[in-house]
Amino acid sequence: MQQYVNYLIIDLHNAKKNVPAETKPGEGYEAFEEHMMALENSPDIRLSDLFGISEEVFPPTEKLSELQLEQLNQAILDMWRAFNIETDYPEDVPANLLYPALVAQFSKEMHYWPGWQMGIELCNFEPDKCPFGIEHCTCKGYFQDDSNNPNS
Ligand SMILES: [Zn+2]
Repeated sequence: MQQYVNYLIIDLHNAKKNVPAETKPGEGYEAFEEHMMALENSPDIRLSDLFGISEEVFPPTEKLSELQLEQLNQAILDMWRAFNIETDYPEDVPANLLYPALVAQFSKEMHYWPGWQMGIELCNFEPDKCPFGIEHCTCKGYFQDDSNNPNS
C-alpha cells in the first residue's frame, strides 16, 4: 500500500499544475464590470474536475495506516492551498476522521474563481452531522451557549 500512497502523493503534488490561470479585466470600469459578471456567471465546477483527481483514487480509510492517512491529508491540503482553497478543521481531529472528510469534497461542486481566495466548509454547523463527530466538532460551541445556561 505504501507504494500506492507514494504515487498518490506525487499525483496530488502534480495536480498543482492544474490551477487555472487568473483572468484579468481589461482597462476601465466597463471591462471590470464585464469581468466580474463573467466570474459570477461561470458555472460551478466539480472539484475532481478542477483538481484533475478523482475521488475514486483514494483508498478506503480502513486500508491506510495512521502515517499514510496523515501523509495523504497533508498532500491534499497542500494541493488545495495551491488552488487558493482554505479549509478549517478542529486541531485535535484524528487523521482517520479528517481523511474521509477531505476526500468527500472531491465529488462536490464549487463556484471557483481563479486567483480568488476560496473556502471549503467540512462541517456545516450541524454538530450531529459533523464529519468529525460531536466530540471533535468545533462548531458545536456556537450552539452550546443556550443549553449550558441554567437560566434559559
Ligand atoms: Zn462540526
